[in-house]
Amino acid sequence: MDPRRDPIDADDFRIFPRHLDGKARSRHHAEYAGWHRSACWNGRRFERFPEYIVRAQSVADVAHSIDFARRHRLPVSVRGRGHSYAGCFLRDDGLLLDLAALDRIDVDAAARLAAVQPGASSRQLAQALAPHGLAFPTGHGGDVGLSGFLLGGGLGINFRAWGGISAFNVRAIDLIGADGDLLHADAEHHPELFWAARGGGPGLGFVVVKFYLDCRPLPRCITSTCARTGLDRLGELLQAIERADPEPALQVMVAVVPDGDGLQASLSALAFADTPRQAQALHASLFANLPAGLLEPPAQDQPSGFEAIYRQSEAMLVSRRYRSDNILTDRAGEAARILAAHLPARPSPATVPLLIWRGEPRLPDAAFSARGRWFVSTYAQWDAERDDEANRRWLKALYDELAGVASGAYINEFDLEERSDRVERCFAPANWARLRELRRRCDPDGAFHDVRIGRR
Ligand SMILES: Cc1cc2nc3c(=O)[nH]c(=O)nc-3n(C[C@H](O)[C@H](O)[C@H](O)COP(=O)(O)OP(=O)(O)OC[C@H]3O[C@@H](n4cnc5c(N)ncnc54)[C@H](O)[C@@H]3O)c2cc1C
Repeated sequence: MDPRRDPIDADDFRIFPRHLDGKARSRHHAEYAGWHRSACWNGRRFERFPEYIVRAQSVADVAHSIDFARRHRLPVSVRGRGHSYAGCFLRDDGLLLDLAALDRIDVDAAARLAAVQPGASSRQLAQALAPHGLAFPTGHGGDVGLSGFLLGGGLGINFRAWGGISAFNVRAIDLIGADGDLLHADAEHHPELFWAARGGGPGLGFVVVKFYLDCRPLPRCITSTCARTGLDRLGELLQAIERADPEPALQVMVAVVPDGDGLQASLSALAFADTPRQAQALHASLFANLPAGLLEPPAQDQPSGFEAIYRQSEAMLVSRRYRSDNILTDRAGEAARILAAHLPARPSPATVPLLIWRGEPRLPDAAFSARGRWFVSTYAQWDAERDDEANRRWLKALYDELAGVASGAYINEFDLEERSDRVERCFAPANWARLRELRRRCDPDGAFHDVRIGRR
């Protein structure tokens, strides 16, 4: 509890919710425990408890809650749809502002523009755009919140052909800052805030209440295929993919999956095209350039699409106990060797590493600045609380070693619980310094919680 904080008069808190369109619960309320439990997608229970949780129903609720919190020196944390693996919006003390109910989407098809509130999900956006023949590089899980995803950058569906990082498709935002004012930010208005919102991650020092998104024509033919090889050939496979230099409209991922008592590397490729012939040509352009005999013959191309991708991701990442960590790297062979050495000792057989080919995206001037041709993420997942510590230790040891071959890390799947003190790894040094300076300027009194869990 902040010693400088004015004591909160019980009457004050009784009056505060009367001004809200939504609801608020204090720690003493009978419903608080349920609200706290359901806030996180991750099935683990985080022992960090805000004093108040506000479920906003309007933009006015956001401004009103920030004002109430500031007057009582309650640092604000923000929840989009609660998919942060680290539950980073759950902080001790303070006020948790839950935006999940603000999920309106307006599409201007002629301008190829979607105005999206922060509680909207990947699936909601895809469903709103498809009737207009439009699409957006959302996250791969259908229920994933767009706001946390976009603020951290976003490795979205067909991301290589669509800007490299989803946040680079954000045209403008509406936000509310520490002083409670509603601002519109884009490349010309409040450009520093716009710069920060494109990849700055959690703890920006303001709340985004609307994203204006540039949308893309929906590819009419999306197909997938996959092929496997032994885990001992993972490094060879990654290097062969690099040499093949996949087309931008081909999304290439390698998962390490169980195979009987052992593990295999499973390559999957998604082609985003307009005709079956184009899609086939995209697949062929990869497989024809991989060494003969490296993979089992690829499966027949299967029709896919946004909904199929969401379902596949949801089947792989069901809500249970999780930790995730990742690196970005140009040293795929060494990363593969480290993974292969650690994986047999993983405490849970359900734990999956995923390696996504990024290539060298052109990074515009924005907070997102992490470099590395491969994204190497691991989703440790298990069921029993008693296994928490073993999984934490295993994942930490793996990524302590992988850090030696990393060129960066991706903030949205970075283990903020374990590595808050290393969060600058997710940004180029100059971008990190600029983010910290901006944060000092726009939130000098610490009205919002910091990105680092455990710090203000
Ligand atoms: C099943 C699953 C699939 C995923 N798939 C992908 C994927 O394909 N690609 C990818 O890049 N990532 C993916 N992720 C990671 C995902 O991008 C992050 O978990 C992201 O934070 C989710 O957004 P959210 O709105 O649910 O975030 P939340 O957990 O609600 O919030 C995370 C943090 O973001 C900040 N924040 C959120 N909304 C706002 C706002 N409106 N204003 C200010 N700050 C805000 C807050 O600091 C908050 O603590 C996936 C995660 C899961 C669990």
